[in-house]
Amino acid sequence: MWQQAFKKAITFSFDDGIEQDIRLVELLNKYHLKATFNINTGLAKSQYAFTLQDHLIKRLPLETLKELYQGHEVAVHTYSHPFLADLSDEEVLSEIQKDIFLLEKTFNVKPLGMAYPYGSYDDRIVDIIKKSGLTYARIIEPSNDTKPSSDLFRLKPTCHLLDEHVHQIIDHFLQSNSDEPQILYLWGHSYEGDIEHKWEVIEDIFKKLSNHKNIFYGTNQEVLLS
Ligand SMILES: [Zn+2]
Repeated sequence: MWQQAFKKAITFSFDDGIEQDIRLVELLNKYHLKATFNINTGLAKSQYAFTLQDHLIKRLPLETLKELYQGHEVAVHTYSHPFLADLSDEEVLSEIQKDIFLLEKTFNVKPLGMAYPYGSYDDRIVDIIKKSGLTYARIIEPSNDTKPSSDLFRLKPTCHLLDEHVHQIIDHFLQSNSDEPQILYLWGHSYEGDIEHKWEVIEDIFKKLSNHKNIFYGTNQEVLLS
């Protein structure tokens, strides 16, 4: 229970399990920050790659993930990254169960959380996820707020890591003396460092957020579920 010793917590969520995660994990570790990585095990298995703004984005092979994400959390992002709203109940459940199964097999730990691929969700999908045994699921829409979310299955991040207002939000969070617990929850994709040439910006943010004695740094599950 971090709330017994801290009023503020910081956590990160990164999607897709891609090659640029290697550089991102190095930066997170350098600044002693903790994150959750949402993985499509089906695409890791097939080493699926796609082109985005002239950059080839490659999935990391399944067998390399355990070592890379040591000290962080891995969570479900479905087996093959479909638009869940287009699938039948059985297909949605299968996408989630297959990912849970392979993540557990790869990491020897049962995943507890999830990020919706493309941020696509509705009440029907939320009900299926609740039945799958997962305990939280992140959407894309930002709260622009650091108040802990009351709905862990429609979990809003504070904002995207490269949101135009992120520095304002961070400054406000760091300066706050509120007695209520607060969570700064930032999400993104490591390939944004490459395609938007933002590695320096990302490092500046990590540096600014690191080494505050009054802040708890944890993975999503450590911050949300305790
Ligand atoms: Zn994704």
